[in-house]
Amino acid sequence: MPPSKCQLCLTSRAILKRPKTSQQVCKACFFWVFEEEVHNTIVQADLFQKGDRVAIGASGGKDSTVLAHIMKTLNDRYDYGLDLFLLSIDEGITGYRDDSLETVKRNQVQYDLPLKILSYDELYGWTMDRIVETVGRKNNCTFCGVFRRQALDRGAAQLGVDHIVTGHNADDIAETVLMNIMRGDIARLARCTDIVTKGEDSIRRSKPFKYAYEKEIVMYAYFKRLDYFSTECIYSPDAYRGHARVFLKDLEAIRPSSIIDIIKSGETFVLAGEVKKGMKAQQTCLRCGYISSNDLCKACALLEGLEGGLNHKALKSTQKDTGLTEGHRVIPFFERRPAKSIALDREKAAASASASASAAEPDVVVRVEGLSVLG
Ligand code: SF4
Ligand code: ZN
Repeated sequence: MPPSKCQLCLTSRAILKRPKTSQQVCKACFFWVFEEEVHNTIVQADLFQKGDRVAIGASGGKDSTVLAHIMKTLNDRYDYGLDLFLLSIDEGITGYRDDSLETVKRNQVQYDLPLKILSYDELYGWTMDRIVETVGRKNNCTFCGVFRRQALDRGAAQLGVDHIVTGHNADDIAETVLMNIMRGDIARLARCTDIVTKGEDSIRRSKPFKYAYEKEIVMYAYFKRLDYFSTECIYSPDAYRGHARVFLKDLEAIRPSSIIDIIKSGETFVLAGEVKKGMKAQQTCLRCGYISSNDLCKACALLEGLEGGLNHKALKSTQKDTGLTEGHRVIPFFERRPAKSIALDREKAAASASASASAAEPDVVVRVEGLSVLG
């Protein structure tokens, strides 16, 4: 049987089958269609304005590495007029994050983007290694997720950026929809498919890969020979998410559109009036000034528990009001300089890159099976 022709250009030989659409395409058409779909997502959601300073949450993993590559490519191709930065968070995980940050430092040179690295140690006085020593491996990802979210906002404020983009892909979002349904977490269900969420002050967060399939991100990285880090975190990721992931992969194997279908379902959920009433108003943390629905933000509540050695209390206090005690040294959020007042030039950012280490979006286990690369 003669080799199949690409179903898009009808000229070149097809070398892969797109996981998202099952189309057989050539390499050039795959790159083009993948990039155009991300561009369409960006344009349709009106994500950026000309002149925006945008930080790319960079962990060195496949998603954020492909995101950095695509953001740079589209910014040049379509003249978005964005000032791009790499922003990494160093959780302090020896043998994992220190290695992945080396990848980010190489990406900084490869993509010629300034890099800012912020560590949990400098922000909170704790590394994940020490947290795991203290709380064990059961709830470590709860601490890590809460700290990372704040750390990204703080890093973005220090860079004076308007916007953070993260490499969350369609699989991540569909998993989150499933998890929120299974947990009955209505508040999160209502916002987990938003492509843009508002961070602290004017810092927006968005997900340009909202509709990009993980398998296609891996294919893109593979065929472009991008430099990324593929080892998993040494502290086991959220087991519950792992189950949602396996379930989603099973659904995808039967019907590839399942991922997009679940996202579309999530987008069309509407909150009923009485559920809305039960949701708490936002205020600011009495200790550090970060946005919070309680007197203490989640990070400060967790830090109080860590320093008091009461881990179960720390975990509970992320869900309810907490009394104040003296203690930890979290950097007050309100002490940061306002966005845009900081003129961090590329040289300064590049110099800061060599200083320490870091990472960005929540890590999820990456097991990509059944990639269809035609012979
Ligand atoms: Fe942090 Fe992710 Fe490791 Fe959990 S799996 S400790 S969230 S880096
Ligand atoms: Zn083609």
